[in-house]
Amino acid sequence: MIDESEVIRSPLLSVLEDLHIKYQQLQEGKLANYIPELAKVNPDLFSICVMTTDGQVFAVGDCQHLFTIQSISKVFVYGMALEEHGREYVLTKVGVEPTGDAFNSIVLDEMSKRPYNPMVNAGAIAITSLIKGSGPTERLNRMLEMFKKYIGHDIFIDISVFMSERTTGHRNRAMAHLMLNFGMIDQKIEEVLDLYFQQCSLMVNCQDLAVMAATLANNGINPITREQAVKSDYVRDILSVMYTCGMYNFAGEWAYKVGLPAKSGVSGGLIVVVPNKMGIAVFSPLLDERGNSVRGVKVCEELSQQYCLHIFDYLRGSCKFNGN
Ligand code: GLN
Repeated sequence: MIDESEVIRSPLLSVLEDLHIKYQQLQEGKLANYIPELAKVNPDLFSICVMTTDGQVFAVGDCQHLFTIQSISKVFVYGMALEEHGREYVLTKVGVEPTGDAFNSIVLDEMSKRPYNPMVNAGAIAITSLIKGSGPTERLNRMLEMFKKYIGHDIFIDISVFMSERTTGHRNRAMAHLMLNFGMIDQKIEEVLDLYFQQCSLMVNCQDLAVMAATLANNGINPITREQAVKSDYVRDILSVMYTCGMYNFAGEWAYKVGLPAKSGVSGGLIVVVPNKMGIAVFSPLLDERGNSVRGVKVCEELSQQYCLHIFDYLRGSCKFNGN
């Protein structure tokens, strides 16, 4: 029998536990309510999971609870499009400029008619339209295979979320038609939208998100399976757009305060990449008015500060975090 008093506790785990206790009290924010499946989620759910690039896991809260990945999927599908078409071609279809607008704004760049970046809905739909395959099934299967490399196990679609997204997604449909009008995506609008809604409806837990983030932190290599999930060459592109556009119209303040590439989703997930060190994932479904997890933002602000993680922090690298 283990004598608890003799177990040496990881200081990082203690920090995560303290943050969890502190922010569990915070009841600010609202659940996403554009579909019933998200509106009925338990608002108290809250988990934090960190995975280092050498595969150590530090988890608090219910890190096994499943939820839909939503917009966090945009990061990984962008990587897939880059691998399939190369940087130059993808850039002709979707820009890399932050919008300062909401994630679902219906705006395209005046001059080029491109969506502004791959992290807002319009850009993500255009990116999804680039996924290769002989038909919808092959495209979906290829996408699932790509996610599996990041996560290390099979991933499934929440069918009721997918059906709700598809039934209510008029705004996304309008964007797709606008892009069709400007020749930014091709005719198969409904197939593209279905694949986009399917990618949003993939089920993950907080630990899955941490390994996905850690894979990006580890030059595209999954720290557990050692599989290359995305070519190292493209990790830099993915992290750049996460840094400038990943938190929607909060991206600037996030870059200023937290200083790390990140991506949030409307179900309350948030991933943060600390290059060459770790991936951080937080899940808490109460959202602020920009659609970012309230507790998620707070936890990451504190972690960044406490461990000097901001990429422009002059102390960066001098603060310990490896469980020490
Ligand atoms: N399914 C949502 C949409 O397309 C995803 C948005 C989000 O997570 N911000 O509108």
